[in-house]
Order: sequence, then C-alpha cells, then structure tokens
Amino acid sequence: MSNPYQAFNLDSKLLALAEFSKETRRHLHQIPELSGAETKTSAYCSELMEQAGYQLTRYDDCTGFVASLEINPQWDWIAFRADMDALEMDDLTNNEFSSKHPGCAHNCGHDTHMSIALTAAKYMAANTAELKHNVRFVFQMAEEDMRVPGANKMVELGCMDNISEVYALHNDAALEYGTVKFNNGIMSSYGSAWTLNVHGVSAHGSTPQKGLDAIREASRIIMDMDYVVAKRTNPFSPAVFGCGMFNGGSIPNAIPDHASARGTIRAMDSETDAILKDSFNMFVKESEIRGFNTTMDCVGYPAVINHPEAYQRLLTVAEGIVPSDRLQANGLPMSGSEDFSLMVNAAKDAKGAMFFLGSGNSAKGISNYLHANPYFIDDDFMLIGAQIFIKLASS
Ligand SMILES: [Zn+2]
Ligand SMILES: [Zn+2]
Repeated sequence: MSNPYQAFNLDSKLLALAEFSKETRRHLHQIPELSGAETKTSAYCSELMEQAGYQLTRYDDCTGFVASLEINPQWDWIAFRADMDALEMDDLTNNEFSSKHPGCAHNCGHDTHMSIALTAAKYMAANTAELKHNVRFVFQMAEEDMRVPGANKMVELGCMDNISEVYALHNDAALEYGTVKFNNGIMSSYGSAWTLNVHGVSAHGSTPQKGLDAIREASRIIMDMDYVVAKRTNPFSPAVFGCGMFNGGSIPNAIPDHASARGTIRAMDSETDAILKDSFNMFVKESEIRGFNTTMDCVGYPAVINHPEAYQRLLTVAEGIVPSDRLQANGLPMSGSEDFSLMVNAAKDAKGAMFFLGSGNSAKGISNYLHANPYFIDDDFMLIGAQIFIKLASS
C-alpha cells in the first residue's frame, strides 16, 4: 500500500501513533451522542487523557471537560479545542465501525477531532522536551445545537482561564486530505438559531373576520425578513435568513390560532447581524400591534476571527508540514458558524485561529460535504492534524 504521508512532513514518533488514532476514532464513531448528552464519549476521552498524564477538570453539570499538562509554571498556556457531539441522523456508512446508536451519527466528523486531540495529546505528554508551552485540551460538548450550552458554558466554567492562544480544526471531506484551509481574519459567520411563535385567535374557516390567522402572520414575518435581506442590508455584506421548519393549525376549516417556525440567521459582519436581528424584533413588535401574541427567541454566537499572529503561527507551522499545493491560506470564510469564536474571544488578546483540514480522498472516491449522509472520511488525514497541533505547541 502506498504511503499516504509521502508528501507530508510527519515525525516518525507520530507515525507510530497511526493505529492509536484510527482505533480511537473508530471507537468514538460507534458511540455518537447528541449535543449536551456526550456521556460515553466524554468518559472515553477523559480516561485516555488521564492515562496519558493530563490533569483533568470535570464539571458537575456538563459533559465537557478540560485536560491540562503543566510543564513549566513560567510558560504560557496554549489550548486546543475538540468538539464531541454528533448529529440526529442514522449512520448510513454501513461498515464495521458504523454507529451503534440508532438515529445518531458523527456526520460532522467530530469523532476525528477528538482522535486528533487524543493523538496529539498522547504525543505531547510523551515528548515534553519538545514543547514550548503548557498545554490544555478542551473537550467541548454541544457544538452543533445552538440551543444547548456549549462553548459559552465551557468559557463560563473557566476553560480559557490563563490561555494565551487557542486553536481548533474542522475536518472537511470535500477537500483532499491534508489540505489546510484558513484565513487571516474572518473564518466563519455570525450565526443564530431563531424560534418564532405566533398566537392568534381561532374561528371557523368561513368567518375569517372573527379570528386572527397565526399562519398568515408567521408567514408575513418570514417574508418580511426576506425583504430585509434584499433591501436593508449592504449588497457587499452577505446575509442569510432561512426558515427550515414551519408548523401551524390543526384542521383545514378553522382559522389557525398558533404557528411556529424555526430557522437560521447568518452574516459576515456584526453590523449586518444586528440589522437582521433588530428587524426581526421590530416585526415581532409590529405583530403585537396587530393583535397577535408573538414571541421570537434568537440564540447564537459571533464569527471566528483568526488573530493575525495566530494566523501567522499556523501558516508557518502548516508550511513546514503540508505541500504548498495543499495550502489554501487566503480563502473565503465559511457561511456556517462555530462557537469556537467564544473561546478565541476569551483567550488573551483574542489570540486564536481555526482551520479546515481536508479529510476527503478522490482516489478512494471520498468526497462529501459536512452533514451529508452517508458521511465518509479518509481517516489517514488525522495524523496531519495532530502534527499541526504538536508543532504549534512546540514552537
Ligand atoms: Zn456540524
Ligand atoms: Zn462540526
């Protein structure tokens, strides 16, 4: 079999952990858990981190935990984030390490993020003489579901206390394995999840004048938001308003007294983010003037902004590991969002950076988008991620 790392500059001591990285990933892939409920996952990872020699900080009311390795009290602390949750879908990969939890699958590849962290952590603990920082790994719950506390909760609990710089990666099976993609500056969108509830007044369908039609009102608000995207935001500033769920009414011949909808808001700058949210709140208030009892709840997080110094550090490290044709250091930000932004913002001087790491392999026919089902990856890519983390900690 050809050597998948021929074009990459990986340490031989790390290559010896190839089996470890695959075994851990395959184990984690079989026990995917939903946001906030990552108990087996957290137990498995924390045990391995403890075995490797890390000091654990666990919390009573969440599955996230922190693993620290202090080598020299005078040194700065560097942190790496690994997210642990999976998605509410069946695993259609159909192989020997497919999900054993029906209706739950690692289709965002967070199993690989944990394995990369576990592998890098194991290497670092065994080779402390190479390190130049004290090291912390943050195993974070609930990245996927904005409604479940994730990075915000971990930051609140102190996961970023004393951290001078923080890094995270996300796999991307639409990119060839080992491709490192990141930007200086904005990396991901300002993202929010919203829930709209409209209560009107029911009446017979033949006498609309006696009721208040909640479906029509909710639709009107959603359509008005499309107008905001088209007419109130700067055409040079991307904006997304999406409604992915809509429910209302119970029988066909009555005026519906309730409608609910859920969706997403994305923007690439804080000003556009504010225009979208303020407009939405204004429409909700106007709805009340029309007699409806309307509420809207919107939760989200800011964009990941790669700090110029962290970007430069990452670039230098990546240049030493991956061939130049696998380096995309000035791409477009993704329209998706990431609560890792809250960790970056909580680090000293907001020094942090995130990058995508290709996990596809066209020669093996592996190329799919995040959240696709089935979601395949070429797990050879993981050692490249581990090597980048190791070099960041040792430079
Ligand atoms: Zn995802
Ligand atoms: Zn993800």
